[in-house]
Amino acid sequence: MTINIRNCSRCKRIFVPVSGEKICPDCRAEELKLEDHVKSYVRDHPGITVNQLIEGSGAPSKLVWRMIMQGQFENSGLRDAKYPCGNCGKLITRGAYCDECAGKLKQNAQKFAEAMNSKRRAAEKKAQSSGKTFSDSMYDAMNNSRSR
Ligand SMILES: [Zn+2]
Ligand SMILES: [Zn+2]
Repeated sequence: MTINIRNCSRCKRIFVPVSGEKICPDCRAEELKLEDHVKSYVRDHPGITVNQLIEGSGAPSKLVWRMIMQGQFENSGLRDAKYPCGNCGKLITRGAYCDECAGKLKQNAQKFAEAMNSKRRAAEKKAQSSGKTFSDSMYDAMNNSRSR
């Protein structure tokens, strides 16, 4: 087993991701609180636009748009929740791309993922043959500090 560590992309603190998170548990909890606040704001103000939501709730527009892209406001009555497809610019309401582009990009993404996987396997092999990896040394250090 290896232990991966990562810098939180929000507060820059070092943490151990459990399943590939980019932010630490503290920041995640804060974001969830904010998401709840945004969601209840939409519930309390039926028919508002995205701009009114961002201004009224005080939440960062980045967070609000990410929630829209995740489909968290579907059937919530939020208006103007449309943004351009990341590939062709057509207005969409969910995901990063329109259906047409998503289909095309999915094929490319699969090829990309396969290429990345074989690269990672090669890097892992190299790390194994060179002895201890960075994560192993971390693990040893943690064990030592615990037994002392
Ligand atoms: Zn953080
Ligand atoms: Zn598109």
